[in-house]
Amino acid sequence: MDTIELPYKKDESFRDKLSTIDERGKRKWIYPKNQSGKFHTLRQLFGYSLLIVLFVVPFLKVDGEPLFLLDVVHRKFIIFSRVFYPQDFFYFGLLMITFIVFVALFTVVFGRLFCGWACPQTIFMELVYRKIEYWIEGDWKEQMALNKQKMNFEKLWKKTLKHSLFYLVAFVISNLFLSYLIGIDDLKKIATEPISDHIAGFTTLIVFSLAFYGVFAFLREQVCTNICPYGRMQGVLLGKDSLVIAYDYVRGEPRGKFKKNEDRKLAGKGDCIDCRQCVNVCPTGIDIRNGTQLECINCALCIDACNFMMESVGLPKGLIRYASEYQIKENLSYKLTARAKGYIVVLLILLGIIGLLLMKRPPVDGTILRSYGYLVEKTQEGKYKNLYTYKLLNKSNHPQKITIEIIQPKDAKIEMVGHLPVIEKEGFIQGSFFVILDKQQIKGLKTAIEIGVFDEKHQLIKKFKTNFLAF
Ligand code: SF4
Ligand code: SF4
Repeated sequence: MDTIELPYKKDESFRDKLSTIDERGKRKWIYPKNQSGKFHTLRQLFGYSLLIVLFVVPFLKVDGEPLFLLDVVHRKFIIFSRVFYPQDFFYFGLLMITFIVFVALFTVVFGRLFCGWACPQTIFMELVYRKIEYWIEGDWKEQMALNKQKMNFEKLWKKTLKHSLFYLVAFVISNLFLSYLIGIDDLKKIATEPISDHIAGFTTLIVFSLAFYGVFAFLREQVCTNICPYGRMQGVLLGKDSLVIAYDYVRGEPRGKFKKNEDRKLAGKGDCIDCRQCVNVCPTGIDIRNGTQLECINCALCIDACNFMMESVGLPKGLIRYASEYQIKENLSYKLTARAKGYIVVLLILLGIIGLLLMKRPPVDGTILRSYGYLVEKTQEGKYKNLYTYKLLNKSNHPQKITIEIIQPKDAKIEMVGHLPVIEKEGFIQGSFFVILDKQQIKGLKTAIEIGVFDEKHQLIKKFKTNFLAF
């Protein structure tokens, strides 16, 4: 991250410690103030819509295949109902590279936008768990008071209810998570059949539930600030042109308390009334007025809090807003820079390439190789025969009736050993066939040949290049 010059800042000690750790190295529990506002409403709309999508997707199927499945145990991955096997590692490698470049470029341009708006950790933490907490224990000050007071009936029932609901939601998330790993049908079996038939599945469910409960009830913002690798990468990805949640220090400083009917300019004060509401609402406990910090998850709650205060005292909104460091310094409104536009073009090209590769992925794949150990055979008509073995996998969602034919040299013949069976959905076949060439088709010891696998409509699915041996 570029060093941010804050002309007004005298005390830089905040950079030496984490906002959630006290002087003695103990965890400081964050009690963010409940804040409403335009950005919070928009985030709720977006976040809850994403949650609906997240919960609906495991039930969606195309041609009997789930839309997404990451079955690590059976090494079967389904993306947009297209099945991928370990043999498709090439596509996975490409997907991963594209994804990493995409994430890096997206962050360079849009900062940590993903964290605040689309990350499941933030959505569950801020829009589900935090809401439950506010509902049962009240706003930040009531929560602090409750935690300070000795155990009594009120504290007991509130804590019991809260943690029971926390665990219940963790159990639901665990089911959701598992539905992406084993599929909704297997998950239904775990839920409806005797536990003794699904010991492994049931144990996984409980372990995941406990893990999610621990993350959302206790770890909380520590995941974003200390554990998540994406969060840790911000330091190298964000630049002065990146869109971040920024405090307009040019307009805000020098900060000073609000006094009714005071001319702040004459009093030598900037627009920040030092009310600390932006700090009070922050779920990671930072003061955004210190500049962009790794802990900021772009939740925009400080924008809502500051806008509310600005409105209350009759000053223009937007003292904290989405802007780049450069725009704050130069007092410009947000505009995509040439570099950002270039990155967006690269992102679109990468997405196009990966889309094209996925579309062109053959529905039947495998190998066709000349059989080693079988020497060339000469027929009575003076032709030459080589034996080949095929191993073919149907990666599509329906049975494939295929034929194997010679493409090059033309007019060469194929003689199947046995019949070529229909390849069932996700099925695998193997067998052998002879390729027969005339003497004039042979070009030395090794003749390059091309063999094609065709579908029912005689469309070429996959082309194999191999050699024909003759001496
Ligand atoms: S600084 Fe603002 S946007 Fe960043 S985490 Fe805190 S409240 Fe959210
Ligand atoms: S909420 Fe706005 S006015 Fe209040 S301290 Fe934060 S930046 Fe200053």
